[in-house]
Amino acid sequence: MENRIYNFNAGPAALPLSVLEEIKDSFLNYAGSGMSVTEISHRSKWFDDIINDAIERIERLLNLDEDFHVLFIQGGASMQFCMIPMNFLKKGSIADYVNTGTWSTKAIKEAVILDKKVNIAASSEDKDFTYIPRNIQFSPNSVYVHITSNNTIKGTQWASFPDTGGVPLIADMSSDIMSRPLDTNKFRLIYAGAQKNIGPAGVCMVIIHDDMLELVQDNLPTMLDYTTYSSKNSMYNTPPCFAIYTIQLVMKWLEEEVGGLGKMEKINHKKAELLYSFIDSSDFYKGTAEQGSRSLMNVTFRLPNEDLEKRFVDQALENGMDGLKGHRSVGGCRASIYNATTIEAVKALTDFMKTFEKKNG
Ligand SMILES: *Cc1c(COP(=O)(O)O)cnc(C)c1O
Repeated sequence: MENRIYNFNAGPAALPLSVLEEIKDSFLNYAGSGMSVTEISHRSKWFDDIINDAIERIERLLNLDEDFHVLFIQGGASMQFCMIPMNFLKKGSIADYVNTGTWSTKAIKEAVILDKKVNIAASSEDKDFTYIPRNIQFSPNSVYVHITSNNTIKGTQWASFPDTGGVPLIADMSSDIMSRPLDTNKFRLIYAGAQKNIGPAGVCMVIIHDDMLELVQDNLPTMLDYTTYSSKNSMYNTPPCFAIYTIQLVMKWLEEEVGGLGKMEKINHKKAELLYSFIDSSDFYKGTAEQGSRSLMNVTFRLPNEDLEKRFVDQALENGMDGLKGHRSVGGCRASIYNATTIEAVKALTDFMKTFEKKNG
């Protein structure tokens, strides 16, 4: 489509073009209702169908058992950082956290603010979060283990998940949910801010197992209590309707156009392989994450100096590629290549990188 550029933003990020087109079509008149999808009541049959279809598609894509519940909660992934310890840790009980970067650090910070007991079971801070820790000893008496499956800022990702010895595993999957098939039975709670890989900003998807709902503490503020959402199909109050509608369409795209998470994973591997193999073949660009810990979603790299990095980002934009600046806290460059970023976009980026290297290397 004309004047659309290649979007490598980390979040909010690229959405599938067919999803945007369907939104455009339903924006003034949704399903013959004579109203915009943003104008219909959340108590209407139309919206009921939207949220239920979104949930059913998520259940199918992730092969979820009946003991899991799909919830939609506002406040972003960041609010889950406080809801998790608030709901599951009573006074004196302890949780294990693995610290693999900025978002894990923030999750830990919220538990500490609430005066909960936190054990840092492992951390990769010693090497500036450039790797995923292995062979971790978890404390057998902790209530849960918290990990960040993909570290959006540092560009690392868990290739496989740790054995917690029966302690419930909780994962922040904001930046790699639905990017690959997932053995969901390994987890007891998964959450993901929508704006990376599954929709627009404004909602966080939470997949929670019955075992965790049983642990929810008494006397929590209503809106911070998971059971408020699980007992009312995420509609105790007005949900973020438009964000949920967009998630429904992205799930439909994943099922019907992509053909499921197995296919999605193959495409994602291809994109990451294109970029990493080019970076590895060049002396000009240097990947920042350790080889065995590299993210398939956020490819982080440096150029020989900051001046070149700035020129790289500026000239990429002039060539129709946006979002290549690294997170403001770490600098460097980052290409976020989520599900909706096409192979064509990644090819255009590697071509541009080659040309830029020839001129400046
Ligand atoms: C972006 C991100 C967050 C924060 O998400 P918000 O929805 O902005 O609160 C948390 N965790 C990870 C892994 C992220 O990528």
